[in-house]
Amino acid sequence: MKNSRKRSILLVLLVLFFLSGVGFLAFELYMNAANWALKPFNSHLSLNSLANAGKIFDRNSVILAESANSKRIYNKDDQIRKALFHTVGDENFNVATSIQSKFRDQLFGYNFFMGVDSPEFLREHHDITLNVDSRLCKTAFAKFSSHKGAIACYNYKTGELLCMVSMPTYDIENPPNFKKNTDGQYDGIFMNKAMSSSYTPGSVFKIVTAMSALEDLPDATTKKFTCNGTEIINGQPITCMGNHGSIGLRDGLRYSCNIVLGNFAVALGKERMEKNTKKLGFGENVIMDSMEVKSSSYELSSKSKDAIAWSGIGQDNVLLNPIHMLTIVGSIANDGVAVMPKLIKEVTGGFLHRKFNDNTQKKSERRYMSSETAQILTEMLSYTIKNSRISSLFSGLDVCAKTGTAEVGAGKKPHAWVAGFSKNKKTPFAFVAVVENSGFGGEHAAPIAAAVLREMCAA
Ligand SMILES: [Zn+2]
Repeated sequence: MKNSRKRSILLVLLVLFFLSGVGFLAFELYMNAANWALKPFNSHLSLNSLANAGKIFDRNSVILAESANSKRIYNKDDQIRKALFHTVGDENFNVATSIQSKFRDQLFGYNFFMGVDSPEFLREHHDITLNVDSRLCKTAFAKFSSHKGAIACYNYKTGELLCMVSMPTYDIENPPNFKKNTDGQYDGIFMNKAMSSSYTPGSVFKIVTAMSALEDLPDATTKKFTCNGTEIINGQPITCMGNHGSIGLRDGLRYSCNIVLGNFAVALGKERMEKNTKKLGFGENVIMDSMEVKSSSYELSSKSKDAIAWSGIGQDNVLLNPIHMLTIVGSIANDGVAVMPKLIKEVTGGFLHRKFNDNTQKKSERRYMSSETAQILTEMLSYTIKNSRISSLFSGLDVCAKTGTAEVGAGKKPHAWVAGFSKNKKTPFAFVAVVENSGFGGEHAAPIAAAVLREMCAA
């Protein structure tokens, strides 16, 4: 008797266990079937699969892509099409980080019982509304002219990504002949450089060195170094464009003095520079709407003092991703807390209004530095712009920023950079722009960012 009771209990437990397993599988299948069925590696589905897909809107309900008569069509304005090509994407997954590649499952539609072959009227199409403003992107695109590079702007309080443009680009409705790429004009054309590139930062990185000094050196605001144009560190000359005399961190940033910021990096040393860059998210990916942004890196070529000095002025092996830099300047503006950027505003429509990837809707934050450091940096970056040759570009916009001109090797023009924000509470916008192989940051990157910021603040 005892044995048979034991056996029946065991059997009941086994049955329960089996049923709960089946239940779990069914639940997983229901929740994830669309995501699994529409993965990019199921390439047989990619052919014309957006022919009846949902729409993509910008923040002002401007249609960026829609389907009509079994064909995917894009915005009527060719400049908007070009400016948003990397954000919207194409139909063949060429731009890995685009909405049409990454969020194909929502756009495409799927029916739980009938799968991808379900009749049109049973599919759960979703429309995707983005945070970007297509007019701002068009302005940025026009300002870039024929240069390569990237620009990104966002609201540092909410994380809404308002502008993102990558160059070079092309018109998806009139593609060029990519085989005739004789002078390399189409190199990197399928890469969203704001999200997937990292560049030598040059002097915009001095913001990071200054942050590090303010966090870890008790005398950071009073300490002075003397710039005579050149200083020999560990037998290697560190050079500066000026001859700035004895100055501290504030004027070091204002004049973008290599000797001062190089010496601050040496005073901090390798360990503290590494600790602080790590705190700012170097070496890890910014996550934007479940998409990974290429990580920035701070890995020195050697432990020697000259390598540390060069790293403090954004040279040596330092690499910076534009979207990541946007979160750094955004954190300075936001009292030390970085709000991660969000490209997607909302996903709507579909049967039962079921939503996928709800993690795209959450605000994600992280403290990069103390509130005090953020306040001192804000004052220093405001002072830098007020006393710079480009102050008139940003007049009336309460801008705190730093330009950069990054040396990228003999015979090549430097990368021009600018990164900053408006400290006006009514216009909480941060910006970053990098223009490849163009020249000075103040001359090539700042005018593009200023034009976009001015339009953003006027809206
Ligand atoms: Zn100097």
